[in-house]
Amino acid sequence: MIPGTETLNGLPRQRLGFFPTPLVRLQNLEKVLGAPKLLMKRDDQTGLGLGGNKTRKLEFLIGEAIALGADAVITAGAAQSNHCRQTAAAAAQCGLECHLALGGTPPAELSGNLLLNTLFGAEIHWSGEMRKGENIPTIVAGLQQQGKKPYIIPYGGSNETGASGFVAAMIELQQQLAAAGEQVDHIVFASSSGGTHSGMMVGRDILGAGFQLIGVNIDKDEVYGMALDKYIIHLANTTANHLKLNSTFSQDDVQLSSDYLGDGYGVIGDLEREAISLTAGNEGILLDPVYTGRAMGGLIDMIRKGRFTQEETILFWHTGGSPALFAYGDDLR
Ligand SMILES: *Cc1c(COP(=O)(O)O)cnc(C)c1O
Repeated sequence: MIPGTETLNGLPRQRLGFFPTPLVRLQNLEKVLGAPKLLMKRDDQTGLGLGGNKTRKLEFLIGEAIALGADAVITAGAAQSNHCRQTAAAAAQCGLECHLALGGTPPAELSGNLLLNTLFGAEIHWSGEMRKGENIPTIVAGLQQQGKKPYIIPYGGSNETGASGFVAAMIELQQQLAAAGEQVDHIVFASSSGGTHSGMMVGRDILGAGFQLIGVNIDKDEVYGMALDKYIIHLANTTANHLKLNSTFSQDDVQLSSDYLGDGYGVIGDLEREAISLTAGNEGILLDPVYTGRAMGGLIDMIRKGRFTQEETILFWHTGGSPALFAYGDDLR
């Protein structure tokens, strides 16, 4: 029995996605890049409102909201947040009111994730400079005054409840690899609010697995006043505690590359453009401009710099986000 699974299986959970997501090999990209074996975990295909990694967190977060008798959920993000869009879809499916605190001001045109949020019936609270949920308490107070029972989903869904979804994801991956007769040496993915990364760390620990987890940092701004690697360690520890595990995590357990931050969150450069077009043009797979485009750009750079041997196997975890492509058309031409 894998440690922690009894607790994990006992947590409230709302089924929202189609799992396991596909595991595919990218043979064309391997050839083009002269890369070692390259696998991709297709979490862009989780199925909830055009999919993405937040579906895994939301199964536990929405599960908890329902268990607590909430009638509304609130979360926050950038105007093109994939997390907010998947939350809006989940809330629609479960009959919950959805409130989104989005950074910025109302744009002239609805596109990408923002368009989808409105189709899912979410109420948007334009929040200016605040794109990480700084104003959630104020909005929650207003909802409570109206007699509502709001459940707070933190920025990115990244608390121990949400991160538990990525502990479960590691178990899913291990079963898939075993069935396919594959093993991996490195998992590369976009890391931003910390939930994916810390859940993967706890999952690797309970499985006793030896692969490296290489997060590519997407956003140079801090989370809750902490550098991202510090927040990931904190969240791995609280997630382990949530699952009644004794494991503790420290700086040595985190590998986070901040080499690909470019001009900041959501600013598209040559790195992202090349990665998006190579992956689309050779594999017919869509990345996204903000997260997976940057993370794949980082992986391509690491391959070119000889970071991996030809005998190793690399898995790129596709965390979703392609609806945002439609909001970045001008930057991708
Ligand atoms: C949110 C998101 C990430 C980052 O996941 P975190 O758990 O916030 O670190 C990566 N890729 C996409 C497409 C996302 O929407």
